[in-house]
Amino acid sequence: MSKKIVILGAAESGVGAAILAKQKGFDVFVSDGGAIKPVYKQELIDNNIEFEEGMHTAEKILDADEVVKSPGIPEKNELVKRIRSKGIPVISEIELAYRYKGDSKIVAITGSNGKSTVTSLTYHMCKTAGLDCALVGNIGYSFAKQVAEDPKTLYVAEISSFQLDDIKDFRPDVALLLNITEDHLDRYEYKFENYIKSKFKIIENQQAGDYFIYCADDEVIMQHLKTITIKSNSMPFSMNQEFKQGAWIKGDTMTIKATEDVIVMSVFDFTLKGKHNKYNNMAAGIAAATIGIRKEKIRESVATFTNLEHRLEYVSTVRGVEFINDSKATNVNSAWYALESMTKPTILILGGVDKGNDYSIMDDMVKEKVKAIVCMGLDNTKIHAAFAGIVTTIVDTNSAADAVKAAFQLAESGDSVLLSPACASFDLFKNYEDRGRQFKKAVMDL
Ligand code: ADP
Repeated sequence: MSKKIVILGAAESGVGAAILAKQKGFDVFVSDGGAIKPVYKQELIDNNIEFEEGMHTAEKILDADEVVKSPGIPEKNELVKRIRSKGIPVISEIELAYRYKGDSKIVAITGSNGKSTVTSLTYHMCKTAGLDCALVGNIGYSFAKQVAEDPKTLYVAEISSFQLDDIKDFRPDVALLLNITEDHLDRYEYKFENYIKSKFKIIENQQAGDYFIYCADDEVIMQHLKTITIKSNSMPFSMNQEFKQGAWIKGDTMTIKATEDVIVMSVFDFTLKGKHNKYNNMAAGIAAATIGIRKEKIRESVATFTNLEHRLEYVSTVRGVEFINDSKATNVNSAWYALESMTKPTILILGGVDKGNDYSIMDDMVKEKVKAIVCMGLDNTKIHAAFAGIVTTIVDTNSAADAVKAAFQLAESGDSVLLSPACASFDLFKNYEDRGRQFKKAVMDL
């Protein structure tokens, strides 16, 4: 009899896992407590996969030999607790994909901020070098589905901490840890330590010959490194120090020394702007070098990569006022980096659903760069309280159209209007993409 596998959650990663499991001969059952999106439902039907939605049939689920849990489902979920207490092994979709990826290599990218940017940039480098590769993971394409339907020799994977929580053997050939700042603590019993440990699982199974690329300017990473032993090759990157192997930026020059093929290039040639993107370029550059991509190709990629939508995305200039969409900045740290990259006086559009933000880390940056704050959210009291003594003009709005109009009124020619909300979007919008698109539309309508 074939092994019974239950997949909890039927979105991108769950459906991908189901397709791969079915292909490998498992007896597959997919269960989603909510409604399944029509595209995913169709995929399940097309692949002859049994599923249920809007409910979880406990007897059937608890009869599984193995469970694949989608990353969105928290441990505190009652059913997950029952599965655990029954001792049924629970894995994540990336673990299942890993099991069947064969000899192919994995470059896996994690961190609190910059994952999608570095994943896309690394992928761009691999494509520029002509490698047979795929972009997978948290970025929106299931790793498992890729392995099932269109296997490649190299996978560039964006990995969230939730996906790492349930790995067993997952072992990336190249692991990148970009930074660690407090995020998603609600899923980690409000213990920062748990979240840190989860991020570090990316190197848990690495061996000699693998690579670990990390930011040596990140205090949290450096502190944790003191407490563990690493088997793989360390490849740090920094803006403050040089290494025998790794990458650094000194003055206006970036050096990547991962192989014999040392790369030296001017930061003025980077298409991605801002301090955070200097880190992102170093991280992706080392990753590309370790998998053998030549320096000419890395240089070319860094100088041609265009940023993803909603990440410091230039929208338009209207009567001398520049508009920038950084809707993806859903925490204080990423909003800090967005402001850091601003070169003109800035009207900052801030607000949404606060995830326990400590705005004080933005104080100096706001003092230096922000002329006025336009709040865009249902409850803006915390923003007023945080910045009342720093910024004289703080206005409230509760739609993208009104926020853009208010910001435009406050701006003069030569200023920038930056949407970098530091908050989640679901009080007024479907998600950060919807927020960014509504912002862009409002700018175009001015
Ligand atoms: P993630 O996929 O980790 O959410 P993204 O690449 O989508 O990260 O970037 C999200 C936001 O974080 C961007 O809008 C940008 O302002 C900020 N950001 C990008 N890279 C970094 C970095 N290395 N450090 C801090 N903030 C960053």
